Amino acid sequence: MAATTPSVERAGNGVRSSAALNFLKASPKKLLIGGKWVPAKSGKTFETLNPATEEVLALIAEGDKADVDEAVKAARKAFEEGPWSKMGPHERARYLFKIADLIEQNADELAELETLDNGKAKTQARAIDIAGSAETFRYYGGWCTKIYGETNPSDPSMFNYTLREPVGVCGQIIPWNFPLLMAAWKIAPALAAGNTIILKPAETTPLTSLMLAQIIQEAELPPGVVNIITGAGATGAALVAHGDVDKIAFTGSTEVGKRIQRSAAGTKKKLTLELGGKAPNIVFEDAPIDQAIEGIINGIYFNQGHVCCAGSRLFVQESIVEPVIRKLRDRIGTLRVGNPLDKNTDVGAINSQAQLDKIREMVESGVDEGAEMFQSACALPTRGFWFAPTFFTGVSQSNRIAQEEIFGPVLSILTFRTAEEAIEKANNTPYGLSAGVWTEKGSRILKMAQKLRAGVIWANTYNKFDPTSPFGGFKESGFGREGGLHGLAPYVVLS
Ligand code: ADP
Repeated sequence: MAATTPSVERAGNGVRSSAALNFLKASPKKLLIGGKWVPAKSGKTFETLNPATEEVLALIAEGDKADVDEAVKAARKAFEEGPWSKMGPHERARYLFKIADLIEQNADELAELETLDNGKAKTQARAIDIAGSAETFRYYGGWCTKIYGETNPSDPSMFNYTLREPVGVCGQIIPWNFPLLMAAWKIAPALAAGNTIILKPAETTPLTSLMLAQIIQEAELPPGVVNIITGAGATGAALVAHGDVDKIAFTGSTEVGKRIQRSAAGTKKKLTLELGGKAPNIVFEDAPIDQAIEGIINGIYFNQGHVCCAGSRLFVQESIVEPVIRKLRDRIGTLRVGNPLDKNTDVGAINSQAQLDKIREMVESGVDEGAEMFQSACALPTRGFWFAPTFFTGVSQSNRIAQEEIFGPVLSILTFRTAEEAIEKANNTPYGLSAGVWTEKGSRILKMAQKLRAGVIWANTYNKFDPTSPFGGFKESGFGREGGLHGLAPYVVLS
């Protein structure tokens, strides 16, 4: 654990906003429990790094079981006794709208912090992560007043009805790839339904959750409604193991998802899991090719491939393999990889050394198993965690790079002859989060969408998100949905 205070100016080199730098200077960062900022009871802290430079951005309180206990107590009190549980839906909605407004007012600082902490291109952070987070709060703000109960047609001498009530105290554990957006996807629907929350951000990207916590304070949400506990896997495990948590919502790796399932088994906890993916992006010979190339590039290199629904397996119809590979080779040569704060950057830094090691190991396995690698010849910065956009041809179904999630800018290219073969190959992984289909034939799109075992299917586009649309997986990609009406369901119980 670090004892030194980081040099914020150096670590935040290139940041334009003094608000972002001032935010970083208030270090070590504390936990938000019951409306108060407190250090971890153990006094422990950990470092969060700028992955583009490896410099320390801030020291962060490392919460453990004792802090989780306090946070759960605060959330329980706020749920059972606090003004939150007595509040009408119109008033609840106003808090969500206020949070959305404040996210927009602080969008530049949030985008800078996200970029510094995660390594993603700032223009993308601003346009997608931050804008999407504000939209999510606004969208679910609208739902507060629309969570209706029902009257049930039964014996006329009875009054038989169903209410939709909040689940209670919700533990929410999020990953590092879209830190603020994942916090918004979890917090907004839970608040809309009247729950209270303990959020555990990922250890490599805690900053925007902490700034969101400040925003939530500024919006004057009652104390204890949203609590933030920073820390690593053990902190998340303590939250999952806590006896007084009613629900766990988790987004992250399939491996940790399975561990959480085992820990929550036999308890009262409701569980939703959004896990890994190995999405097929399927291009038919009649597809609008240049548009498809952009979709393939966006599908795998957007956010450095740190996307659970990344189109990481490209299936190309045999008759067009050559032009597609030629065009892809040309196009990845034009991707600008480097300083994430530069407005022209397309591909930023890999989030951590550990993730870079995983990517390298998977790429080595691809080479060892006989696939042919092509890598963009871009110059990479000498410090920080970087990986050049890469694709493999000559990949077979059984190769690890065709089966396992890489979570990096690495595409595996496979081929098919018929739609049936594409479906069979596309469905042949343990995952089922998303898929892409490129063809001019509408009827083919519908047939493919019916047969592909994936929760989200894009046609002639990729990686499009909207808070109105449910997102979530089949098979080992998890269960439960986030977004839209269905994203509310996990936060509501019927009585
Ligand atoms: P990745 O492998 O991409 O880093 P993880 O699934 O390990 O993703 O992490 C996602 C989130 O889950 C992070 O907030 C992390 O701290 C948390 N986490 C890791 N291990 C556990 C665990 N055993 N129980 C609960 N949360 C965990």
